[in-house]
Order: sequence, then structure tokens, then C-alpha cells
Amino acid sequence: MAGTEATPDSASRDASFHDVPDANASSSPHPLQRDPTPSRDADIWLEDGNLVLIAGDTAFRVHKSQLSRHSDVFNGLLGMPQHLVDDVIPPSLADMCDGCTVIHLSDTAYDIKRLLHALYDGARHVSPAGAMPFSEVAALARMAHKYQIDWLLQESTRRLKTAFPDHFALWPEDTSTPAVTVDPRDAIEAFNLFRRIDRPDMLPAALYACCQLDLGVLVRGVLRADSVSVENLPTDDLERCLTARRALTTSNVKLALTLVSGELSATCPPEAKCGQFFGDCHSCEMQEYFYGADANILGPYFSDLIESFLGDEPAICQGCAEMLKDRERAARLEAWCSLPRYAGVHLEGWGVA
Ligand SMILES: [Zn+2]
Repeated sequence: MAGTEATPDSASRDASFHDVPDANASSSPHPLQRDPTPSRDADIWLEDGNLVLIAGDTAFRVHKSQLSRHSDVFNGLLGMPQHLVDDVIPPSLADMCDGCTVIHLSDTAYDIKRLLHALYDGARHVSPAGAMPFSEVAALARMAHKYQIDWLLQESTRRLKTAFPDHFALWPEDTSTPAVTVDPRDAIEAFNLFRRIDRPDMLPAALYACCQLDLGVLVRGVLRADSVSVENLPTDDLERCLTARRALTTSNVKLALTLVSGELSATCPPEAKCGQFFGDCHSCEMQEYFYGADANILGPYFSDLIESFLGDEPAICQGCAEMLKDRERAARLEAWCSLPRYAGVHLEGWGVA
């Protein structure tokens, strides 16, 4: 059953499911290369526990009942005859595993630690008042999906969706939100995560975020917070991303050309010098932009630019400024509407302003 995701049914068919890698080939955690000498986690090693989970180079001693209570996958696995579940006890832990069931997992220690904190510490860990780092929320979503813990999956995706919305009006001004702190380099992990947990509604925003990465990062991938897993876009998704990146950049240049096309608003007063100003922009100021244009058409560049035209000494009239804002918004909305197509998904209602 190599290459399949663990489920209660699959666990009951094959007791070795915990050795099976995750189905998502787009990330490459290395924990399958078992460390012969795992060390016990300094925090999650509960002396009265009856189950030892080994993930990567770390062992966690926990309670079967606590895992079974939250996860049907663990419930199915731990309900099996112990001789089918028990794994080889590493020599480094032999003295400390007295009577415990020992299971090797294919997950990273980073992910399992976040999962166990969520199951043992509950709201204190999962629902802090402020924003949580993306890497932690992603780990919770990944584990909650794999081990079928619905409440945890809902809470983690709720946070993630604030940064990767499916509505134009909810597009955040910054990559981070009050619920989750996102670094631009998290984009690839986000995209792969949303594929893995089957959230097509969050894929377009993640693809857009991938389009903003440097080409080297996009092609070579990034190291996850666990320091062992590399996140790469699979070839098909990389092709989609590069196609989208080029199209968004083209749209950005077209928007710049439109803004300084020289057309004036119908209400532009004769004494205004908007036409002269647009001509000056076209010939010098915007030239620099055309050559350095990026794919961030949803970013604040043009709205900030238009506002700068309206400083203490307005360079253009209010009517022309409104015309530019309308064009800028139309271009952004058009780009937003194109994102599902670039991501290869069909989403009903997408793009409704
Ligand atoms: Zn004007």
C-alpha cells in the first residue's frame, strides 16, 4: 500500500501503515530514514503513558485512549491486536518503554509534536488569541487531515483561509492576518497542503502567492520549519504557476499602459493638466516600471501610485483619479477571476465582487 494515505480501513488491512509515506509526493520529508537512536521528547513524555510514538528522531510517550478519543485512524490502529501493532523498540528507548506499545510514524517530529500539543493542551495551543505561525497551523491541518480529526482540521483551515481567501473582497493587504503569520516563502507549502487536504477553494490564492516567489525559490523549493522536509511544486503545478506568473505580469504591464494611455475622464476640466502629466508618466516614470514589472497585480502598487498623484498638490483632477481607480480595480478583479483557471480548478461563484 505504498503511496496511499492511512485510513481506518487501510490500517486494519495492514498493520504496517505507520511506515507508509504520505501520499503527497510534492513534499519530501525524510523521517522514513529511521534514526536508529531516537531520543525522547523533553516535553511530551508522559510517565504514565502506554504508547510510544516515534517520528523522525524523536519519541513521544502518550496515552492510547487520548489518541483514540480524537482520531478514528488511531482508534482503528490501536484497537488491533497488539502483536500486529507493536514495532521494534529502539535500544536507546528500551529501558523507558516498559510495556508501552511502540509505533513508528512516517510524519516528522515537528508535525507530531504540534498534533500532540493540540490533543493534550486543546484550546491553549490551538486557539491562542493572536496569530499563529503558518508552519504550526499547516502542521495541524496536515495531521488533522491524515488522522481524521475534524475539529482540528476546521480550526486550522479557518485560520489559513484568512490568508488564502476565496473572495476578492477578503484579499488581505498583507500576507499575514490576525489569525496566521505567513511568510511569502510559505506559499509552496500552502499550495501543496491545500491539494493534500482537498481544499480547492484555497488553491487559487496560494498559487498567486507562489507566483510572487523568485524563480530560484519556485524551482528549487523551500525547507519546511521542521528542517527536514523540502516543499516543491509537482511538475504540473509548477507549469501552472509559471504560466500564471507570466500572465499576471503581462496584466500588470497592461494595467500600467492603460493608466497612462492619455485618455482623460469626461469631467476633466479644461484648466487641468492631466493630459500633460500622463504623457510625462508614460515617457519616463512608468518606463522603469515596465522593465521591472512583477506578477503582483493584486498588490498595492497602483493604488498607492494613484494616491500619490493626489498629494498636497494634486497632479491630476479628481475625475481622472476616479477613472484610474476604476481601471485599477477592474484589472485586479479580472486577474482575481483568472486565478482558478490558472490553478486548474473550477469554483462556482468565484470572482463575485
Ligand atoms: Zn483630469
